[in-house]
Amino acid sequence: MAAATAGVRTIIRDARLFDSEHARFVPGTTVVVEGERIAEVTQEKREAPGATVIDAGGRSLLPGLIDAHVHVVAASHDLVGLAMQPASLVGAEASRIMREMLHRGFTTVRDAAGADAGLQEAQQRGLYEGPRLFVAGFPISQTGGHADMRPRGVRGRGSREFFCACAGIGLVGAIADGVGEVRRAVREQVRTGANQIKIMAGGGISSPSDPLEGTQFSLEELRAAVEEAEAANLYAMAHAYSPRAVTRAVEAGVRSIEHGNLIDEATARVMKRHGAYLVPTLSTYAALADEGGRLGWSASMLDKLGQVKGRGLDAVRFARAEGVPVVFGTDLLGHMHARQNGEFRIRSEVQPPLEILQGATWTAAQLMRQEAHIGRVARGAFADLLLVDGDPERDLGMLAEPGRGVRWLMQGGRTVIDRLA
Ligand SMILES: [Zn+2]
Repeated sequence: MAAATAGVRTIIRDARLFDSEHARFVPGTTVVVEGERIAEVTQEKREAPGATVIDAGGRSLLPGLIDAHVHVVAASHDLVGLAMQPASLVGAEASRIMREMLHRGFTTVRDAAGADAGLQEAQQRGLYEGPRLFVAGFPISQTGGHADMRPRGVRGRGSREFFCACAGIGLVGAIADGVGEVRRAVREQVRTGANQIKIMAGGGISSPSDPLEGTQFSLEELRAAVEEAEAANLYAMAHAYSPRAVTRAVEAGVRSIEHGNLIDEATARVMKRHGAYLVPTLSTYAALADEGGRLGWSASMLDKLGQVKGRGLDAVRFARAEGVPVVFGTDLLGHMHARQNGEFRIRSEVQPPLEILQGATWTAAQLMRQEAHIGRVARGAFADLLLVDGDPERDLGMLAEPGRGVRWLMQGGRTVIDRLA
């Protein structure tokens, strides 16, 4: 993509710029894009011969959105069936899912397991349109943990072997028991190009055999996973719901808690003390509550779903009250990906609009240690930009319905959507 935009200049003028770091708007701003990056952000007028000029007409200009919890390979909600599919088919489906995410305004996504370096490189090379992709590789799970997808009747070692090791992508975990195996599993994800390490630190909804309130991995195993991630200058993100599972994970050094629905005040304080981020994924519970029964989910899975869904907004309240940074995430599967932007609406019940927006830009970039490149409109950052109708300070309806609210979208200096005319 870089080659296609090299030397090309775009000037966006009269924009009401969202300063994501300080969660405020700056009217009358001019942004100069050169190639794939932002060259200048100024309150003065700028002209350049040959440049494309975009008149924002006072509209709000946002950094490209970031969804910090997606699974781009989740073409189906049936994760076991998905694991049996050829990697080529899953890859082709993932390219469609990614294209749709980009067209909803997400110029970057953090994959919470499943996607690999091949999908990342394909997007970078422009083989298809999609968000910048930060991959975790396989999720790391103990035997019987959240990413051990073997049905109960199956015996023998190794979830991945059972599900055909040739598949290569999918949401089936790398099963690791004991510190040595955990280290090897993390190193394997590092070797194959992971940007962050995903560990399953507690029970889950979509898995067949683990209680929601249980903990997974020993403290030594959790610490080993974090140590190996940090040895490669990466960090660990942990799937966890219960106070016990969340507390153990952050005390072991995990950087972000994924979901976290069951946390209380005390757990939020522990998260704050350890500098952890919370990545709630509320839209997936709303989607599954609507559709889980029809999709054939078992009674025990639907029961677990009911337990977490009712507590999701409270978890965000507790996190905010204690000053834990809250990041935008969704965690949708299959056809439910269409609900990605519904997350903006759901969060509006407990977070002011600008805070939600900051969580989908600046705070998400900080979590990913990428704030020099994404999540803000500043000199040197990628030219990932959105022009929207309406006033995001009052409500985020324009992002909840991007087909109407997003008027112009640029990613890395390349125009993706232009509905300004
Ligand atoms: Zn997930």
